Amino acid sequence: MEISTSNHQNLHFVLLPWLAPGHMIPMIDIARLLAEHGVTVTVLTTPANASRIQPTIDRISHSTHPIQFIPLHFPTTEVGLPEGCENMDSITSTAMITTFYNASKLLREQIVHHLHKLKPAPSCIIAGMCFAWTYVIAREFGVPWFLFHGFSCFSLFCLHNLHLYKSHETVSSPTEPFVLPGLPHRFEITREQLPMHFHLLPQYQEMCDEVREGELAMDGEIVNSFDELELGYSERLEAATMKKVWTVGPVSLYNKGRSDMVERGNQSMFDEMRCLNWLDSKKPESVVYVSFGSMGRFTPAQMMELGSGLLASNRPFIWVVREGERSSEEVEDWLLEKFEKNGDSRCLLIRGWAPQVMIMAHPAVGGFVTHCGWNSTLEAVSSGLPMVTWPLFSEQFLNENLVVDVLGIGVAVGVRTATKWGRGGEDGVLVGREDVAKAVERLMDGGEEGEERKRRAKELGEKAKKAMEKGGSSYSNMTNLIQYVAEYAAKSTVEHMTS
Ligand code: UDP
Repeated sequence: MEISTSNHQNLHFVLLPWLAPGHMIPMIDIARLLAEHGVTVTVLTTPANASRIQPTIDRISHSTHPIQFIPLHFPTTEVGLPEGCENMDSITSTAMITTFYNASKLLREQIVHHLHKLKPAPSCIIAGMCFAWTYVIAREFGVPWFLFHGFSCFSLFCLHNLHLYKSHETVSSPTEPFVLPGLPHRFEITREQLPMHFHLLPQYQEMCDEVREGELAMDGEIVNSFDELELGYSERLEAATMKKVWTVGPVSLYNKGRSDMVERGNQSMFDEMRCLNWLDSKKPESVVYVSFGSMGRFTPAQMMELGSGLLASNRPFIWVVREGERSSEEVEDWLLEKFEKNGDSRCLLIRGWAPQVMIMAHPAVGGFVTHCGWNSTLEAVSSGLPMVTWPLFSEQFLNENLVVDVLGIGVAVGVRTATKWGRGGEDGVLVGREDVAKAVERLMDGGEEGEERKRRAKELGEKAKKAMEKGGSSYSNMTNLIQYVAEYAAKSTVEHMTS
C-alpha cells in the first residue's frame, strides 16, 4: 500500500476509540493510516487498554509516524467496577454495562484538559460509538466531530431505517419477526437479533438516547468498509442520514508485516511458529478457521456441540477458545483429551487471543466459521474467504444477511436466537453438532454452489486490496476526509480573523 507523502502535520486528528476490542483494533489501524497520510494523530485511551497493544505502541514510537498515546485514568474503583475492568470484554454481567458506560462519561474533564494542551490544536475528533456524548466537547473546540460505530454501511442503513420507521416497536415480543424497512430485498428480523438500542429495555434507555443524540449531531461517519463491497449502501446511508460517510477500509490490510499481524489488538500466548508450522503442513485452502471474536462466550453444552460438529466435519481446523469461556470441568477435560493431550493433527486449539489476520492470510485456510462481528467479517473478505455465519448478538444478524443473502459468500449455520451476552448459562444449545458439520461441509465443498461462493469471495478479496491501494476507493476517501478537515480548519481561521 503506497501512501501519499503530502504533509498535513498541522492537522491534528484526535481519536477516542470506544473501550472494546472490536472498536479499539480498527481505530488503531485508522490512526496509523491517517499518520501515513501525513496528519498528526493523538489517541486517548486507558492504561489497561494501551498495555494490550504495547508492542504496537512501541513500534509506532520508533517509527516516523506522528502518533502519540495519552493515558486516561478510568475510574473503575470509583464506580464499583473491579480494578482493571477498562474494556467491555471484562464485563461479566449485564448490570455492569451501564456502570461501565457511566464510568466512561467521567472521563470528560480529563479529555478536555488534554485537548487544551495539544499542539497543534485539535482539528477534529473521531469518537467511538459510546463516546457519542463527546460531540459537545468538539463543539466547544469548534472542530468537526465524527463517529466510528465499527459497523458496516449496510447495518448502519438498516438501523437508521429502524429509528425512522420504528418497525421494531410494532411487534409484541423480542422474538416476533418483522420486516426490516427500506431495503431492496425482503429481510425478516426480531428485536433480540438487533443491537441493544432496539431492545426497548429501560435500563439502557439513557445510554441509547445519548448515542442517538450523537448520531444526529455528528459531522460524518467513518466506516471500516469499502465501496466495492457494499454496492450502493454508502450512498444510501449518506442520502438517508444526510451525513457524510467515508469508507476507509478494510483497515486490517494496513498490517502487512509479521509483527503487526501477530500482535494486532493483543498479545497471543500461543506460539506463533507452532501455528505457522501447523498451517504449513496443510493443503492449500483446506483448513477451517473458527473464532467468535472478543466477546463471544458459549455455554459448556454449546462448546461441546460445536467441537463435536467440527470433528465430524472431517476437515482440519483451528478453533479459538476464549479465556473465561463459560467452561466447566467436564468441558476442560474434554478439550484436553480430544484436542490437546493426544494432539490430533487435524485440529489446533488456540486458547485466548489468536493472531487472526495472520491465520486468515495463510494459503492453507479455506473458510471461516464466524460470529459475524464486522471486523472479522471484513478480515475474511480481505483474505478472500467464504464463511459459515453464526451471529451471536449486536448487529451481527444484519452482517449475516449481508454476507449470505446480498454478497453470496456465506452459509448460515441457522441460528435464530440471539445469545444473551453476559448472562452465562442461560442459552443452552442454540446450534447442534449436525448443523455445525453440515454447514462446514457446504462451506468447504467443491461442488458448483461451493465453488461459486469461493470465486465470489476471492474476487471481493482482490477488490478489497485494490480499494486500499493508492488511487483505490478507500485510499481516496481517506484523502477526502483529510481534505474536509483541512477546509473546515481553513474556514474557521478565516471566520476567526474576520470576527
Ligand atoms: N481478534 C483477534 N484474535 C482473537 C479474537 C479477535 O485478533 O483471538 C480480533 C479480530 O481480528 C477482530 C477483532 O478482534 O479484528 C474482533 O472484532 P469483531 O468485530 O470481529 O468482533 P467483536 O469482538 O467486536 O465481537
